[in-house]
Amino acid sequence: MTQNPYVIDQMISAKAIAARVEALAREITAHFRGTDKLVVVGLLRGSFVFIADLVRELDLPVEVDFLEASSYGDATHSSREVRILKDLRGEIAGRDVLVVEDIVDTGFTLSHVLHLLRARGPKRLEVCALLDKPSRREVDIRATWTGFEIPDEFVVGYGIDFAQRNRNLPYIGKVRFLA
Ligand code: 5GP
Ligand code: MG
Repeated sequence: MTQNPYVIDQMISAKAIAARVEALAREITAHFRGTDKLVVVGLLRGSFVFIADLVRELDLPVEVDFLEASSYGDATHSSREVRILKDLRGEIAGRDVLVVEDIVDTGFTLSHVLHLLRARGPKRLEVCALLDKPSRREVDIRATWTGFEIPDEFVVGYGIDFAQRNRNLPYIGKVRFLA
């Protein structure tokens, strides 16, 4: 696939991300203290780096599961249609659940996923999102914990892609087109 040339300007350094992940993990650990086991649900694919770092900072018994919902395809425009491409492997009824998302943008994806998971009767259901773009919100929803609020820019890195590229950048950067 051909791609217009672009550069990536660093927005959030790897060091700043690591510090924030540690702080988020401390709050999440305190919130769920005493749980028999926390089911950490990563929304594929963008959250895979974040969830890997986050679970290693949680001082709790955890189980990791994944859910894949599609809203973007390969374009930079959100669609209101959310499809579940891969469901959880485990049961969440009566369990403590933490959904881990990369970015809350319009809010359609998160609202759809929470509706789906809530219907399964978890004991507690909370959300930790790495990034939030509040100015883009169309659905009244917010994560329990947010890493960073960012402006309306298209970002990549730390697990987040542009047409399946740049997920392996250790920092978060914004895409700037040259042509
Ligand atoms: P929403 O349903 O809230 O509009 O979209 C959420 C999803 O859109 C995120 O989980 C993420 O996959 C994708 N998304 C939103 N903003 C960006 C962005 O700046 N860069 C990339 N690569 N994906 C984004
Ligand atoms: Mg996503």
